[in-house]
Amino acid sequence: MIKTVVNVDLPIDEKLLIKKKVLCPTGVSENDPKGDRKKISIVTGIHGDELEGQLICFEVQKRINEHPEFLKGIVDIYPALNPLGIDSISRTIPAFDMDMNKTFPGTRDGTMVEFIASTIMQDLKEADFVVDIHASSIFIRELPQVRIPLKFKDKLIDKCRFMNLDLIWAYNSSSVQENSLAYSLNESGIDAVVIDMGIAMACTKNYCEQVTDGLFALMSHLGIWEGPVSETKKSIYAENTEAVEVLSSAIAGMFVREVECGSHVEKNQLLGRIIDPLNGTVKEEVLAPESGLLFTIREYPVVEVGSLIGRILV
Ligand SMILES: [Zn+2]
Repeated sequence: MIKTVVNVDLPIDEKLLIKKKVLCPTGVSENDPKGDRKKISIVTGIHGDELEGQLICFEVQKRINEHPEFLKGIVDIYPALNPLGIDSISRTIPAFDMDMNKTFPGTRDGTMVEFIASTIMQDLKEADFVVDIHASSIFIRELPQVRIPLKFKDKLIDKCRFMNLDLIWAYNSSSVQENSLAYSLNESGIDAVVIDMGIAMACTKNYCEQVTDGLFALMSHLGIWEGPVSETKKSIYAENTEAVEVLSSAIAGMFVREVECGSHVEKNQLLGRIIDPLNGTVKEEVLAPESGLLFTIREYPVVEVGSLIGRILV
Protein backbone atom coordinates (compact mmCIF):
# COMPACT_ATOMS: atom_id res chain seq x y z
CA MET A 1 0.00 0.00 0.00
CA ILE A 2 1.25 3.46 -0.87
CA LYS A 3 0.50 6.18 1.67
CA THR A 4 0.94 9.92 1.32
CA VAL A 5 2.92 11.19 4.30
CA VAL A 6 3.14 14.88 3.37
CA ASN A 7 0.75 16.82 1.16
CA VAL A 8 1.36 20.57 0.97
CA ASP A 9 0.22 23.11 -1.59
CA LEU A 10 2.74 24.75 -3.86
CA PRO A 11 2.05 28.32 -5.03
CA ILE A 12 0.34 27.61 -8.35
CA ASP A 13 -2.02 24.67 -8.11
CA GLU A 14 0.62 21.96 -7.66
CA LYS A 15 1.38 19.88 -4.61
CA LEU A 16 4.47 18.61 -2.86
CA LEU A 17 3.80 14.97 -2.03
CA ILE A 18 6.04 12.68 0.03
CA LYS A 19 4.96 9.06 -0.21
CA LYS A 20 5.88 5.79 1.42
CA LYS A 21 5.30 2.14 0.64
CA VAL A 22 4.03 0.05 3.55
CA LEU A 23 4.78 -3.68 3.50
CA CYS A 24 3.03 -5.88 6.07
CA PRO A 25 2.96 -9.61 6.82
CA THR A 26 0.39 -11.67 4.95
CA GLY A 27 -3.03 -11.27 6.54
CA VAL A 28 -2.19 -7.96 8.21
CA SER A 29 -3.71 -4.74 6.92
CA GLU A 30 -1.64 -1.59 6.58
CA ASN A 31 -4.30 0.15 8.68
CA ASP A 32 -4.15 -2.34 11.57
CA PRO A 33 -2.54 -1.09 14.80
CA LYS A 34 1.17 -1.90 14.95
CA GLY A 35 0.77 -3.93 18.13
CA ASP A 36 3.93 -5.74 19.13
CA ARG A 37 5.15 -6.15 15.56
CA LYS A 38 8.53 -4.60 14.86
CA LYS A 39 8.87 -1.91 12.23
CA ILE A 40 11.85 -0.75 10.19
CA SER A 41 11.66 2.47 8.19
CA ILE A 42 14.02 2.89 5.25
CA VAL A 43 14.27 6.51 4.16
CA THR A 44 16.33 8.13 1.45
CA GLY A 45 16.38 11.08 -0.94
CA ILE A 46 16.80 13.86 1.64
CA HIS A 47 19.52 15.10 -0.68
CA GLY A 48 17.99 15.15 -4.15
CA ASP A 49 21.19 14.34 -6.03
CA GLU A 50 21.90 11.17 -3.98
CA LEU A 51 20.30 8.24 -5.75
CA GLU A 52 21.98 5.08 -4.42
CA GLY A 53 19.03 4.58 -2.04
CA GLN A 54 16.58 4.33 -4.94
CA LEU A 55 17.97 0.98 -6.02
CA ILE A 56 17.94 -0.27 -2.42
CA CYS A 57 14.25 0.68 -2.06
CA PHE A 58 13.60 -1.37 -5.20
CA GLU A 59 15.73 -4.36 -4.15
CA VAL A 60 14.23 -4.61 -0.66
CA GLN A 61 10.71 -4.71 -2.11
CA LYS A 62 11.73 -7.21 -4.79
CA ARG A 63 13.07 -9.67 -2.22
CA ILE A 64 10.04 -9.29 0.05
CA ASN A 65 7.63 -9.69 -2.89
CA GLU A 66 9.41 -12.91 -3.89
CA HIS A 67 8.90 -14.39 -0.39
CA PRO A 68 6.13 -12.52 1.43
CA GLU A 69 5.73 -15.49 3.79
CA PHE A 70 9.01 -14.56 5.49
CA LEU A 71 7.85 -11.06 6.43
CA LYS A 72 6.84 -10.95 10.11
CA GLY A 73 7.08 -7.25 10.82
CA ILE A 74 6.43 -3.98 9.02
CA VAL A 75 8.69 -2.34 6.45
CA ASP A 76 8.05 1.30 5.54
CA ILE A 77 9.97 2.58 2.51
CA TYR A 78 10.31 6.33 1.80
CA PRO A 79 12.24 6.72 -1.48
CA ALA A 80 12.01 10.48 -1.81
CA LEU A 81 11.95 12.73 1.25
CA ASN A 82 12.96 15.63 -1.01
CA PRO A 83 10.98 14.87 -4.19
CA LEU A 84 11.45 18.33 -5.71
CA GLY A 85 15.21 17.92 -5.26
CA ILE A 86 15.21 14.53 -6.98
CA ASP A 87 13.10 15.82 -9.87
CA SER A 88 15.45 18.75 -10.45
CA ILE A 89 18.78 17.01 -9.56
CA SER A 90 19.19 19.40 -6.67
CA ARG A 91 20.87 18.45 -3.40
CA THR A 92 18.88 21.00 -1.44
CA ILE A 93 15.17 21.79 -1.51
CA PRO A 94 14.83 23.86 -4.70
CA ALA A 95 13.56 27.43 -4.36
CA PHE A 96 14.49 27.43 -0.66
CA ASP A 97 18.08 26.33 -1.39
CA MET A 98 17.95 24.65 1.99
CA ASP A 99 19.69 21.46 3.14
CA MET A 100 16.72 19.43 4.32
CA ASN A 101 18.95 17.40 6.65
CA LYS A 102 19.44 20.51 8.77
CA THR A 103 15.74 21.17 9.34
CA PHE A 104 14.79 18.45 11.85
CA PRO A 105 12.87 18.04 14.09
CA GLY A 106 10.92 20.92 12.54
CA THR A 107 7.70 22.37 13.87
CA ARG A 108 4.09 22.18 12.73
CA ASP A 109 3.67 25.95 13.15
CA GLY A 110 6.79 26.90 11.24
CA THR A 111 7.66 27.49 7.61
CA MET A 112 6.72 24.96 4.94
CA VAL A 113 10.10 23.25 5.30
CA GLU A 114 9.79 23.08 9.10
CA PHE A 115 6.25 21.74 8.75
CA ILE A 116 7.44 19.00 6.38
CA ALA A 117 10.27 18.02 8.75
CA SER A 118 7.86 17.82 11.66
CA THR A 119 5.38 15.72 9.67
CA ILE A 120 8.12 13.25 8.69
CA MET A 121 9.24 12.96 12.32
CA GLN A 122 5.66 12.29 13.35
CA ASP A 123 5.27 9.59 10.70
CA LEU A 124 8.44 7.83 11.86
CA LYS A 125 7.53 7.79 15.54
CA GLU A 126 6.37 4.15 15.59
CA ALA A 127 9.52 2.81 13.92
CA ASP A 128 11.77 0.52 15.95
CA PHE A 129 14.70 1.33 13.69
CA VAL A 130 15.23 3.97 10.99
CA VAL A 131 17.89 3.75 8.30
CA ASP A 132 18.54 6.98 6.37
CA ILE A 133 20.49 6.22 3.19
CA HIS A 134 22.81 8.85 1.73
CA ALA A 135 25.18 8.81 -1.24
CA SER A 136 28.09 11.07 -0.40
CA SER A 137 28.32 13.93 -2.94
CA ILE A 138 29.18 14.26 -6.61
CA PHE A 139 32.85 14.69 -5.64
CA ILE A 140 33.60 11.77 -3.35
CA ARG A 141 33.01 8.00 -3.46
CA GLU A 142 32.40 6.31 -0.10
CA LEU A 143 32.70 2.64 0.76
CA PRO A 144 29.36 1.57 2.29
CA GLN A 145 29.48 2.61 5.93
CA VAL A 146 27.11 3.33 8.76
CA ARG A 147 27.46 6.61 10.57
CA ILE A 148 26.08 7.17 14.04
CA PRO A 149 26.04 10.27 16.23
CA LEU A 150 28.68 9.94 18.96
CA LYS A 151 26.14 10.74 21.66
CA PHE A 152 24.06 7.66 20.81
CA LYS A 153 26.77 5.15 19.89
CA ASP A 154 26.25 2.84 22.86
CA LYS A 155 22.62 2.08 22.05
CA LEU A 156 23.18 1.73 18.29
CA ILE A 157 26.44 -0.07 17.78
CA ASP A 158 25.29 -3.65 18.37
CA LYS A 159 22.54 -3.40 15.77
CA CYS A 160 24.95 -1.79 13.30
CA ARG A 161 27.11 -4.91 13.43
CA PHE A 162 24.39 -6.80 11.55
CA MET A 163 24.36 -4.33 8.67
CA ASN A 164 27.06 -5.94 6.49
CA LEU A 165 28.99 -2.70 6.15
CA ASP A 166 32.73 -2.25 5.99
CA LEU A 167 32.83 0.48 8.59
CA ILE A 168 30.82 1.65 11.60
CA TRP A 169 31.81 5.25 12.20
CA ALA A 170 30.71 7.04 15.37
CA TYR A 171 31.40 10.58 14.28
CA ASN A 172 29.35 13.77 14.21
CA SER A 173 29.68 14.23 10.46
CA SER A 174 27.15 16.47 8.69
CA SER A 175 24.80 13.57 7.96
CA VAL A 176 24.28 12.82 11.68
CA GLN A 177 24.87 16.21 13.31
CA GLU A 178 22.28 18.09 15.35
CA ASN A 179 19.18 18.96 13.32
CA SER A 180 19.74 15.98 11.03
CA LEU A 181 16.95 13.43 10.77
CA ALA A 182 19.01 10.67 12.41
CA TYR A 183 20.13 12.84 15.34
CA SER A 184 16.63 14.20 15.93
CA LEU A 185 15.09 10.73 15.89
CA ASN A 186 17.63 9.42 18.40
CA GLU A 187 17.02 12.48 20.54
CA SER A 188 13.32 11.58 20.59
CA GLY A 189 14.05 7.97 21.56
CA ILE A 190 13.93 6.26 18.15
CA ASP A 191 16.97 4.29 16.97
CA ALA A 192 18.23 5.80 13.72
CA VAL A 193 21.44 5.52 11.71
CA VAL A 194 22.78 6.87 8.44
CA ILE A 195 24.27 4.75 5.68
CA ASP A 196 26.65 6.71 3.49
CA MET A 197 27.70 4.92 0.34
CA GLY A 198 28.78 5.30 -3.26
CA ILE A 199 28.58 8.61 -5.00
CA ALA A 200 25.87 11.12 -5.87
CA MET A 201 24.04 10.98 -9.21
CA ALA A 202 24.68 7.24 -9.59
CA CYS A 203 23.56 3.79 -8.51
CA THR A 204 26.45 1.47 -7.63
CA LYS A 205 24.93 -1.97 -8.07
CA ASN A 206 27.34 -4.05 -5.99
CA TYR A 207 27.20 -1.57 -3.09
CA CYS A 208 23.39 -1.61 -3.22
CA GLU A 209 23.37 -5.42 -3.06
CA GLN A 210 25.75 -5.36 -0.10
CA VAL A 211 23.57 -2.87 1.77
CA THR A 212 20.37 -4.76 0.91
CA ASP A 213 21.92 -7.99 2.29
CA GLY A 214 22.73 -6.06 5.46
CA LEU A 215 19.21 -4.67 5.79
CA PHE A 216 17.76 -8.18 5.63
CA ALA A 217 20.26 -9.40 8.25
CA LEU A 218 19.25 -6.46 10.45
CA MET A 219 15.55 -7.19 9.87
CA SER A 220 16.19 -10.80 10.82
CA HIS A 221 17.82 -9.65 14.07
CA LEU A 222 14.89 -7.31 14.78
CA GLY A 223 12.32 -10.06 14.18
CA ILE A 224 10.95 -8.54 10.99
CA TRP A 225 12.26 -11.16 8.52
CA GLU A 226 12.32 -14.92 9.01
CA GLY A 227 13.82 -15.89 5.67
CA PRO A 228 17.43 -16.88 5.02
CA VAL A 229 19.98 -14.08 5.10
CA SER A 230 23.53 -13.81 3.78
CA GLU A 231 26.50 -14.04 6.07
CA THR A 232 27.49 -10.52 6.98
CA LYS A 233 30.85 -8.78 7.01
CA LYS A 234 32.74 -8.12 10.18
CA SER A 235 32.62 -4.32 10.37
CA ILE A 236 35.51 -2.20 11.53
CA TYR A 237 34.56 0.31 14.24
CA ALA A 238 36.01 3.79 14.28
CA GLU A 239 35.30 6.61 16.67
CA ASN A 240 35.67 10.27 15.76
CA THR A 241 38.70 10.80 13.52
CA GLU A 242 41.19 9.08 15.84
CA ALA A 243 42.05 6.25 13.45
CA VAL A 244 41.17 8.14 10.29
CA GLU A 245 43.84 9.75 8.15
CA VAL A 246 42.26 12.56 6.12
CA LEU A 247 43.99 13.55 2.88
CA SER A 248 43.46 17.04 1.53
CA SER A 249 44.93 18.62 -1.56
CA ALA A 250 47.85 20.94 -0.97
CA ILE A 251 47.59 22.49 -4.44
CA ALA A 252 45.02 23.22 -7.15
CA GLY A 253 44.78 21.10 -10.27
CA MET A 254 43.16 17.97 -11.64
CA PHE A 255 43.28 14.87 -9.43
CA VAL A 256 43.39 11.57 -11.31
CA ARG A 257 43.14 8.59 -8.99
CA GLU A 258 45.17 5.38 -9.36
CA VAL A 259 43.35 3.23 -6.78
CA GLU A 260 39.86 1.96 -6.18
CA CYS A 261 37.67 2.90 -3.25
CA GLY A 262 37.85 0.10 -0.68
CA SER A 263 41.47 -0.83 -1.46
CA HIS A 264 43.90 -1.69 1.28
CA VAL A 265 46.78 0.66 0.59
CA GLU A 266 50.35 0.58 1.82
CA LYS A 267 52.21 3.56 3.25
CA ASN A 268 53.66 5.68 0.41
CA GLN A 269 51.57 3.86 -2.23
CA LEU A 270 50.57 6.14 -5.12
CA LEU A 271 46.90 7.08 -4.72
CA GLY A 272 46.74 9.48 -7.65
CA ARG A 273 48.33 12.43 -9.38
CA ILE A 274 47.42 16.10 -9.49
CA ILE A 275 48.08 17.09 -13.06
CA ASP A 276 48.36 20.38 -14.92
CA PRO A 277 46.53 19.99 -18.26
CA LEU A 278 47.81 23.35 -19.58
CA ASN A 279 51.50 22.59 -19.12
CA GLY A 280 51.21 18.83 -19.48
CA THR A 281 52.99 18.21 -16.20
CA VAL A 282 52.39 16.31 -12.98
CA LYS A 283 52.13 18.85 -10.17
CA GLU A 284 52.07 16.35 -7.32
CA GLU A 285 51.98 12.66 -6.68
CA VAL A 286 49.57 11.90 -3.85
CA LEU A 287 50.95 9.11 -1.65
CA ALA A 288 49.26 7.23 1.16
CA PRO A 289 50.51 8.72 4.46
CA GLU A 290 49.80 5.42 6.27
CA SER A 291 48.77 1.87 5.45
CA GLY A 292 45.08 1.07 5.83
CA LEU A 293 41.64 0.86 4.28
CA LEU A 294 40.97 3.57 1.72
CA PHE A 295 37.27 4.08 2.41
CA THR A 296 36.85 7.47 0.74
CA ILE A 297 38.34 8.60 -2.57
CA ARG A 298 37.81 11.64 -4.76
CA GLU A 299 36.16 10.98 -8.14
CA TYR A 300 35.52 14.56 -9.27
CA PRO A 301 38.92 15.65 -10.58
CA VAL A 302 38.98 19.39 -9.94
CA VAL A 303 40.77 20.18 -6.68
CA GLU A 304 41.61 23.37 -4.91
CA VAL A 305 43.80 23.86 -1.88
CA GLY A 306 42.10 21.98 0.96
CA SER A 307 39.84 19.81 -1.22
CA LEU A 308 39.16 16.37 0.27
CA ILE A 309 41.04 13.66 -1.67
CA GLY A 310 40.48 10.62 0.50
CA ARG A 311 40.29 9.01 3.92
CA ILE A 312 42.24 6.02 5.18
CA LEU A 313 41.28 3.97 8.20
CA VAL A 314 44.65 3.10 9.69
ZN1 LIG B 1 23.22 13.10 1.87
